[in-house]
Amino acid sequence: MRRLPVFFVLDCSESMVGENLRKMEDCLQAVVRTLRADPHALESVYVSVLAFAGTAKVIAPLVEVVSFYPPKLPLGSGTSLGAALDALMSEIDRSVVRTTPDAKGDWKPIVYLITDGHPTDDPAAAVMRWSAKYARKANLVAIGLGKNADFTVLRRLTENVIVFEESKEGDFQKFVKWISASVVAQSKSVGENIEGAALPTLDESVMRIIKEPPPIADESCVTLVGRCQKTRRPYLIKYEREIQAVATRDFRVDVAQYNLAGCYPLEEEYFAWSDMRTTEFKVNTSSLIGAPGCPHCGSVTAFAMCSCGKLLCVNGPGPATCPWCGSECYFEGGGGEGFDVGRSRG
Ligand SMILES: [Zn+2]
Ligand SMILES: [Zn+2]
Repeated sequence: MRRLPVFFVLDCSESMVGENLRKMEDCLQAVVRTLRADPHALESVYVSVLAFAGTAKVIAPLVEVVSFYPPKLPLGSGTSLGAALDALMSEIDRSVVRTTPDAKGDWKPIVYLITDGHPTDDPAAAVMRWSAKYARKANLVAIGLGKNADFTVLRRLTENVIVFEESKEGDFQKFVKWISASVVAQSKSVGENIEGAALPTLDESVMRIIKEPPPIADESCVTLVGRCQKTRRPYLIKYEREIQAVATRDFRVDVAQYNLAGCYPLEEEYFAWSDMRTTEFKVNTSSLIGAPGCPHCGSVTAFAMCSCGKLLCVNGPGPATCPWCGSECYFEGGGGEGFDVGRSRG
């Protein structure tokens, strides 16, 4: 039996925290449900999942759809696309059976690379290796979630670069449906002994092919890691960008501010998936609007900063022990707005 290997290479960087990561997990589940219901797919499709953030790993090795169990996706800081491609290429070498003069190997693998950001490592060498040795032996579909994906680098990997933008309820389901349909179409064509079906028609209300990469957009979100003072457990605060027009009598300028989107408890595993070089502040903290409470202990703010530069939760003015560096800090009360979440006195 010739297998049709399908690899999902999924960006699990910080901007995916919360809803997006859960949707990606649902997506895998829904795609596999569709494949199990299709006789061609059931017979030929094998699925594997690779995750990447600051590092990249296979989190579900290649198995037939009946035995596939969608993994829990990790979360980490960084978008190491180069590492993701390297992990993918070694996994293809390891698990895909090659055709030899004596025996037919597996069908050309299909790869869905899904990312929402810019690489934080230098993917140039991996991109070159992919183009030289793997591009012809696999069908890669690169999908940018939203406008902030790096379409320039994706275009170097494949002709099939798609942007998916979610704007309303139900859009994500359309996206999932398209991915499932594209795997089913491939499995149907290999079932008829034809290699490589064309991609199914895109649902243009949510997806389109990227021919020309758009100009690089600014950072669309900012994420900050903190630790709970009481439980020492980590959390992630996410801010989303919003453009505000500031006008005076003489000029008008668009200013970016970042509004609080949420604060999510993290697993300790987060640090193992993270590239710690990318965790320093990328924006001035004064453009961050809103401070969340602690998702672990319910303290009023998760945005108190120790003199070591790390964030912790505090439940109002007074002394605190930094869960990162262990030093004693003191937080002062603020003016009319209640508690001032600024820097500690150290
Ligand atoms: Zn706390
Ligand atoms: Zn500290």
